[in-house]
Amino acid sequence: MEKLSDRLHGLADEFTKMAEESQVDDADIYRCPLCRDCGWIIEGSSARPCVCRQQEQQDQRRLPLPHLQRMLFENFDLQLYPANIKTANGNSYRQLAREALSAAMAFANSLAKGINRPGLIFEGTVGSGKTFLAAAIANDLLAKGVDVEFIVVPEFLDQLRQQIHSNGDSESALIRRIQEAPVLIFDDMGAHNFSPWVQNILFTIINYRLNHQLPIIITTNLNMDELCEAIGERIASRLMEIGTNVRLFVDKDIRLKLFRDGRDQW
Ligand SMILES: [Zn+2]
Repeated sequence: MEKLSDRLHGLADEFTKMAEESQVDDADIYRCPLCRDCGWIIEGSSARPCVCRQQEQQDQRRLPLPHLQRMLFENFDLQLYPANIKTANGNSYRQLAREALSAAMAFANSLAKGINRPGLIFEGTVGSGKTFLAAAIANDLLAKGVDVEFIVVPEFLDQLRQQIHSNGDSESALIRRIQEAPVLIFDDMGAHNFSPWVQNILFTIINYRLNHQLPIIITTNLNMDELCEAIGERIASRLMEIGTNVRLFVDKDIRLKLFRDGRDQW
């Protein structure tokens, strides 16, 4: 059998020849002139991964959007939640935010140690910090080598609609990927319509995950009663199995508040 290093040498030679023949600078034709996009650096009879390959692997271990990457537990600012405003139950907004933060950290810790948990639901109005905590769980797990799929539900539904429209396939690979992800974050559930089609898609995913003991984290601007009503009885009863739900309260949209104060987004 041909040795891998010989094969790679052969490929490298072919690329060199092609590049010489075309009289074009490597930098113009390759995304990575170092390895000429083959991902490996050949040295003598051995090959080592190129830096571009290492970078690519690192990028896969990060959330796709830079603002989500900055959402870390240590950056969660409890000062943004007033200590002097209380809910009807007598808990201050800050106390509830502290509890939400603890629940998120405990959840991430369990999963990182391989202790399974069905999920966590963050409720709260727009700008209350629920996406922050969900993203912080994702960032923590990704850093510890656990794969996470972070899905913004309204965007996902649009994408799925388009795919089905253009390919005509209802057995979408996208749905399967989301069903089977080691950890799934469903961000912003409720900021979309709940047509029977949407209910059905969400049920397919949530039902599969609970049946296979795969954790799901949901953020929603609805309270549990509103969510259960919108989502339909079938999913609502499964959502109850997730068990833990945490509600965040703010007096104003935190993002607007930070913007007015001239502070960066969290
Ligand atoms: Zn390279």
